[in-house]
This record gives sequence, structure tokens and C-alpha cells, in this order.
Amino acid sequence: MDTSIKTISKNLLAGDRRALARAISIVEAGGPAASHLVKELFPHTGRAHLVGVTGAPGVGKSTLVDALITEMRRFDLKLGVLAVDPSSPFTGGAILGDRIRMQGHTLDKRVFMRSMANRGHAGGIAVATFDAVRMLDAAGCDVVIIETVGVGQSELAITEAADTTVLVVMPGSGDDVQAIKSGIMEIGDIFVVNKGDLAGANKTATEIIQSMELVNGACPGWRPPVHVATAETGQGIQEIWASIKEHKAYLDSSGQLKSRREAKIEAELEDLVAWLAKENLKESLTRSQHVQKVLARVVKQETDPHSAAKDLIQELFSRQQTGRKR
Ligand code: GDP
Repeated sequence: MDTSIKTISKNLLAGDRRALARAISIVEAGGPAASHLVKELFPHTGRAHLVGVTGAPGVGKSTLVDALITEMRRFDLKLGVLAVDPSSPFTGGAILGDRIRMQGHTLDKRVFMRSMANRGHAGGIAVATFDAVRMLDAAGCDVVIIETVGVGQSELAITEAADTTVLVVMPGSGDDVQAIKSGIMEIGDIFVVNKGDLAGANKTATEIIQSMELVNGACPGWRPPVHVATAETGQGIQEIWASIKEHKAYLDSSGQLKSRREAKIEAELEDLVAWLAKENLKESLTRSQHVQKVLARVVKQETDPHSAAKDLIQELFSRQQTGRKR
């Protein structure tokens, strides 16, 4: 194994922040170095509580995360924060701008913050995020907060990394109604109606509670609490942190932490296998003479693309089976 990867791993485990920053850059870029690093550090993961914070842009996630960090730091917890923007490679700077607002925490050596935009990793930002979370976990973070911008499909994939998902909405925006429609309610373990200082916050909270009767939550036996908070003043933050801890205790005692993490690993493996298969396939397709022949036949319209693809898959799998018998 690459000696520099060994050194980074050793230093990361010893608590070196520069090694941690380097490790996250490596997994963000993907490739063989990233795989080596994950291999080296995977045995040291699994201890951190992974908290996802998600919601539409502008509802106050960054402000809320900032307030939560202040609250968690009262208990001297070591924290990792990943702000993930799956939608655009260009908004990385904007998130960084948001992060800089967290002036109070940038000097805190027990808080590690990082923003990740959709760049680099060929396997996609979800793969990169899962691995970045692992780096923070291995580095000894007690809690890793994964803040995602927006509520689309790719954000949902990232939210799957979390043990506890906090869904943030704001009053009067219709976000809650929107959320129910798009099925996003189901992913929330804890709901926060932020901007409690604005009119309609309690009404929105009541609507969420009512609509919860209609959906099956992600966590059987757990009734998601709905909090009204004002992240800007810190109002309601203690209660949210208490709910996060309660949810963690519930996951532990009900055995759901284990089953949730197993399901996540299964989904991640499926993604990784599909991605690797595609990468390998591309290579073997361009090299194979048989493929070139089939391609030529499709071009000449001697066969059609669907039949050709089926033939190739059959050829590929039968070749692998013969290989296995040997
Ligand atoms: P994000 O896009 O969800 O991360 O939202 P931000 O944290 O960047 O906040 C968006 C805007 O809402 C900013 O102008 C914040 O100052 C404001 N904001 C955040 N929390 C509150 C709050 O509790 N009350 C009010 N009135 N505004 C808030």
C-alpha cells in the first residue's frame, strides 16, 4: 500500500487536522488512493452518530447547524460537519461563504467543517460523501452532521448516510405541503419548523403533525417530534439536540441502528458494484473483437441494438461462469 496513504491514516487517527483535510480531499476525488484510504480506515469507523440536516434552500439549515454546533460543544463533543451540494459544481463557493459565517467555530479545534460540491468523483457525490463521513468518523468525531442543500433525489441519497435525519422547513412557505407531496416526510426522524419568530410557525407545525398520520415514518415505533425553533436566536435548539440524542438511544435500544446501517451498506455496495461494473465494462467493450463485430452488425442493420445488447450480456456472463468453473 502507498506509504503516503499509510502516513495520512496514521496521522488522521492520531487526531491531526491536516491529515483529515487531506484524507477528505482524496476521497472526494475518488480513484485508487481513495480506495486505499477507505480500506485502511474502515476498521476505525462506526462510532460516530451521523446526523443529516436537510430542507429547501433558505429555510435556515446553515444557521440551525451553527446553533446546534454551539449546543453540542457545551458537552465537549468532537464534531464534523459536511455541507453537501449535489446539484451544482458552481455553488461550492456559496456554501463556503455560508460556512464562513460560522466564525465562532472556525477557530474551534474540535469542530471540523468542510463543504463538498458535485465535482471530481466519478462514482458521484453520494459515494464521495459516504467516504468523507468515514474519514470524520475515523478521526474520532462523536457526531458528524451532513447538511444537504435542497430536497431532490440526489439529496435523499445523501441523507441515507445519516442515522438521524432532521428535516427543516419554515412557516408559510408551503414547504411542508410540498414535502408531503413529494414523499419527503417519510425520511424525517425529527422535524424543525425554523424561523419560529415569523408568523404561522405553530400552524405549520400542527400541519406537519396532522400529515404525519398519513405517512409511515422511516423509523418504526418512533414518533417524529416536531419542533418550532428560531435558529438565529438559539430558541428551541436545546430541545432539538435532546431529540437527536433520544432518537440515537431509540435506534440503539430497538436494534434499528444495526439494521439501518446494514441496509445502508447493502445499498452502497450495490451502487459501488454497479459503478465498477460499468467502468470495467466500458474497457472490455472497447477492447473486445466480438463487441466490435456486433457493433458493426448493428450499424449495418443486420441486428437491432436491443438484441445486440442482450447477446453481449449473455456472452459476458457465460464467459464469467466458465471462468469460475476453471
Ligand atoms: P439555508 O439555505 O437553509 O442554509 O439557510 P440559511 O441558514 O443560509 O438562512 C437563510 C436566511 O434565513 C438567512 O438570511 C438567515 O439569516 C435567515 N434565518 C435563519 N434562521 C432564521 C430564524 O430563526 N429566523 C429568521 N427570521 N430568519 C432566519
